[in-house]
Amino acid sequence: MKLRELGEFAFIDRITPGCEVGDLSHVVRGIGDDAAVVKGPTGLMVITTDMLLERVHFTRATISDRQLGYKSLAVNLSDIAAMGATPRDAFLSIAVPPSISVEELDDFYAGMKELASAAHVNLLGGDTTGSMDDLCINVVVIGSAPAEQILYRSGAREGDRIVVTGTLGDSAAGLEILLGRARTSEDLAEPLVAAHCCPDLYLEEGRILAASGAAGAAIDLSDGLASDLGHICRASGVGAVVDVESVPLSTPFKRLCQETGLDPVRLALGGGEDYRLMVTVEPARLNELRSMVADATGRELFDIGEIRSGNSIELRHSDGFTGPLDVAGWDHFKTPKTVVDEEDP
Ligand code: ADP
Ligand code: MG
Repeated sequence: MKLRELGEFAFIDRITPGCEVGDLSHVVRGIGDDAAVVKGPTGLMVITTDMLLERVHFTRATISDRQLGYKSLAVNLSDIAAMGATPRDAFLSIAVPPSISVEELDDFYAGMKELASAAHVNLLGGDTTGSMDDLCINVVVIGSAPAEQILYRSGAREGDRIVVTGTLGDSAAGLEILLGRARTSEDLAEPLVAAHCCPDLYLEEGRILAASGAAGAAIDLSDGLASDLGHICRASGVGAVVDVESVPLSTPFKRLCQETGLDPVRLALGGGEDYRLMVTVEPARLNELRSMVADATGRELFDIGEIRSGNSIELRHSDGFTGPLDVAGWDHFKTPKTVVDEEDP
């Protein structure tokens, strides 16, 4: 069978049985969430790993070494934020092709250390090996959280409001610009490309929401809202409705879509790598949570829809018409165009 017939998520389901074969007394959650959760000496430990491979996740022509160092750690910290935990320690393994110079690796590490320092995360080890052609980066991050305060994908309850921590689609729009598929002025391009190369993180929001006791489920938006809301609904046994008018869009994003004819709904709901958090919260406490987040971070929570019973995920349009949310998210095996396909059809 071809991997593309199965898809990335069915592949993970397929390899999951038989993985938990050791002592499980310290394991709270294994495969199936943004991070694993195990019992530590004080509270719970939250562990995540993400790999970034040249020509699949990035091309060296469209991201600087410094940005790549930042982003490699950022995508992992985002998974820790999505569990409501605090990141503590990181490990970095790299496979480096001969084309990369020491100075380029210095820049990569400078970007990673800049974020590590801002997030107070130690780099405690890793591994270094040569590679024939492509640069491969794998990061592991360990975080911690008080027991009872971890947010799982499975915690959504009927009636919860669905909130996101920032605008959607900017990263996908930035990628369109980087790949030369959308052309625009430097002014519009700059914030969108920055959203793609150096995504903002929501560690504080994740902690506030987890500590409040009013949050149900959480996930970070790495594969696009349509796909990631699907993960929450599937894990929680619920459905959802998203109000298309409430989905926050940035001004540069809206202007780019107007100028180029790109479909804002497809990009905002299907585009990956926004790394905003999506959290379900008790409706009665939404305003209180908004104030807590605004006071602590100066940023906003955007209410985009509601968790419902059933298993369908729907999109409500401005005229009240509701239809299935059938925007495809990112799947490493099913999505037809990877960066590689783009360059070398
Ligand atoms: P994210 O996009 O948040 O990083 P993924 O969709 O990559 O999440 O992973 C979902 C779950 O599947 C996580 O628990 C992850 O650890 C697990 N997982 C992904 N790939 C593998 C693999 N090859 N072997 C074992 N577990 C995996
Ligand atoms: Mg995730």
